[in-house]
Amino acid sequence: MKIDLHSHTYYSDGQLSPKELIDRAHNMQVNVLAITDHDTVDGINEALDYQASLRREMQIMPGVEISTSWHNFDIHILGLHVNHGDTQFLARLAQQSAERDRRAQEISDKLAKVGIAGVFEQAKELAGVGQITRAHFARVLVNRQLVNDMEAAFKKYLGKGKKAHVKPQWISIQEAVTWIQDAGGKAVLAHPGHYDLTTKWLKRLVAEFAQVGGDGMEVIHSHLSPEKKKLLADLASEHDLLASSGSDFHYPNRWTELGKNLTLPSTLVPIWRDWNLSGMI
Ligand code: AMP
Ligand code: MN
Ligand code: MN
Ligand code: MN
Repeated sequence: MKIDLHSHTYYSDGQLSPKELIDRAHNMQVNVLAITDHDTVDGINEALDYQASLRREMQIMPGVEISTSWHNFDIHILGLHVNHGDTQFLARLAQQSAERDRRAQEISDKLAKVGIAGVFEQAKELAGVGQITRAHFARVLVNRQLVNDMEAAFKKYLGKGKKAHVKPQWISIQEAVTWIQDAGGKAVLAHPGHYDLTTKWLKRLVAEFAQVGGDGMEVIHSHLSPEKKKLLADLASEHDLLASSGSDFHYPNRWTELGKNLTLPSTLVPIWRDWNLSGMI
């Protein structure tokens, strides 16, 4: 069974519509797909409606990826199996969305100061119905041929300490865990191997996340060395965190694919342990 619990649509910085994402997952023989856009559940109803209109053996799991600030790092917390219609949850996510708009305006102001004007409007246009993210700014800078690729846009302008970096004011990890659990979901530490943290700080992050009541962590995600995989599995065991895995798919490319290479180590307890998956697939 292929289970992929981390993916994006154009409701945040993914490039596919919910329909296109679901069709692709189906083609990749994914059985369970969580849609986890940044700070929004706006694409979920569209995804569920589309899926319901088809006779396919695939389950769509409502999810979200919440941005948090922790010691000057952006840490992402996935909310899986959330009640995406919960009014309190929606109001809370709207606060994060407002912070995205505020920060975007400020990033644009900083870019204007180094002679790159009018980026906000273009980034907003690219974002369309979705949350505005730094990935949209990166795409504008690439389109204007100011940098060669998105990676370079982060290195030169958008990353921490760079010319157009703006310190975000996201909620704390503890708040994100509370928001997710209040909405009936499981809180999962996203891609722990992706943060620019030393092993000492990574251990501290996982310990704090578990301490504030986090449910699980991704132990399999893209770009992980065998050593890092082992460390993440050990940390999950040590802190009794459930294990999750996801592709973090944003758009078709050479490196990531929906549902690919996501098998969890058999020693860990999967986050879907208590979910009724067999009834739906
Ligand atoms: P934001 O949540 O608005 O700060 O935007 C962060 C998003 O930008 C992440 O979710 C990634 O999808 C993308 N991103 C972050 N760093 C890079 C990078 N170095 N190269 C390309 N995309 C990146
Ligand atoms: Mn993203
Ligand atoms: Mn993330
Ligand atoms: Mn993600």
